[in-house]
Amino acid sequence: MTTPKLGQSTCECGACHRYFTTTANFDKHRAGEYGGGQYCNDPADVGLVQRANGAWGGPPMSEAQKQARGWVA
Ligand SMILES: [Zn+2]
Repeated sequence: MTTPKLGQSTCECGACHRYFTTTANFDKHRAGEYGGGQYCNDPADVGLVQRANGAWGGPPMSEAQKQARGWVA
């Protein structure tokens, strides 16, 4: 497995040592009660997709979603 270059928002989980594209995506894979009962879900089970660089992020946006944001004509 390759180690992604950590950017400003990329973070590594201290528990399972997976990488995430944003802290929001990191939070998605964490479950349980804060303060001792927390654990990691498999990122794929919470809707995340592993990127080419090894980090887990949200699923790629569809063309329709990009158009809705005005990113493409
Ligand atoms: Zn984790």
